[in-house]
Amino acid sequence: MPIDTMTLTDADRDLIWHPFTQHTLWQDSTPLIIERADGVYLFDTEGKAYLDGVSSLWTNVHGHRHPAIDSAIKDQLEKVAHTTFLGLSHPPAIQLARRLLSLAPSGLQRVFYSDNGSTAVEVALKMSFQYHQQNGDPKRTRFATLADAYHGDTLGAVSVGAMDLFHRAYRPLLFEPVVLPAPTVSGGSEERAALKLAMELLERHADQLAAFIYEPLVQGAAGMKMHSPEFIRTLAEFARSKGILLIADEVAVGFGRTGTLFASEQVGVAPDLMCLAKGITAGYLPLAATLATNAIFSGFLDAPKAYRQFFHGHTYTANPLSCAAAIASLDTFTNEKTLENVKKLEFALIDKLAHINKYSFISNIRHKGVLIGIEIDSSQFSSDRLLGHEVSMAARPLGAIIRPLGDVLVINPPLSRSISEMLRLMDIVELALLEVVRR
Ligand code: PMP
Repeated sequence: MPIDTMTLTDADRDLIWHPFTQHTLWQDSTPLIIERADGVYLFDTEGKAYLDGVSSLWTNVHGHRHPAIDSAIKDQLEKVAHTTFLGLSHPPAIQLARRLLSLAPSGLQRVFYSDNGSTAVEVALKMSFQYHQQNGDPKRTRFATLADAYHGDTLGAVSVGAMDLFHRAYRPLLFEPVVLPAPTVSGGSEERAALKLAMELLERHADQLAAFIYEPLVQGAAGMKMHSPEFIRTLAEFARSKGILLIADEVAVGFGRTGTLFASEQVGVAPDLMCLAKGITAGYLPLAATLATNAIFSGFLDAPKAYRQFFHGHTYTANPLSCAAAIASLDTFTNEKTLENVKKLEFALIDKLAHINKYSFISNIRHKGVLIGIEIDSSQFSSDRLLGHEVSMAARPLGAIIRPLGDVLVINPPLSRSISEMLRLMDIVELALLEVVRR
């Protein structure tokens, strides 16, 4: 049956409540309905192609409809699509755990599965809290986090988030973290000042802190705020010296986005808990994992009637199709030398970004691996304009999907993109910017 875009558009406007969306704006716009995808292109119901400039919300790694991942899912489908992980196990989850632990920073020896980034974070928060409760340090009930942190949308993850715009509506429901300052750009005097203050805060609250949670190297949802490896290493090592557990939230930066499989490799500190989601299945299916050290795992062992186990488990935890996709993705990283491609893309972008940075309406460009934040200087425009949104909309007729975070254009393409496709994407971003600033 042919797809009728108008009927779908009307039905979407009538029936659906979209995430993070002001529907007064949505009702007046024409929803873009994606019907299929291939490689780094998305196709709408009219057949128009768009470069996927945000990896379908930072998930897609090797391109859409990758043959190896498609066939791994189909093979698993011949066996079983879903079986519970509460009280049972299955081969893909066991095989994936072995693979993840062999690649993760040393010391991480256990995999706890869940099904999205927020749950991976909730798990890490609850694990670190319960670990201290039942291992002789029950006063450690608080968490340290970085300013502008984003760790997901469930209440625990929102509590350790520090983005006022997303979180203020829920404040009365949340617990209070210790918020450490974080710089916008890596290195320099802003970072040094932030580090000094952050160390003082950690020192002052050290005895109450169960864990320090951080997004290593890039705070994605903050608008690609970046810090140096030394910044986070210094904080992490100091926290560890005070008995505070380290939670690396690699939900956004994991699986190659910063140039190494995990950003923690560049930081040089192995965390006690590491949260993975998004790119774990190469952007195919929901899956998350919280990796833990044996020291933490052992803190939950006891006689059954002691009830010291970890009280957590989601219905679709460790879904077998998702695990099969994740294993195929790790194979593809090796077979296609994906991380080498990220290095090539990172290098190829330098000149183009320097060129865009020369425009007077750009206040800052941040770049690491395939992660790019282009900040528009909103002070030069009328305060009622939604500049990031306008540029993203202007990019669509030109053939690219990007998403703004306020006045920051966030670009985060699949890692498999060719240099020419990447430069084409950046040409479209530049054209869209020029069109919007001239309005
Ligand atoms: N942590 C980080 C660093 C994230 O960027 C996100 C999502 N953007 C999350 C956690 C939450 O992941 P999810 O949307 O899958 O719940």
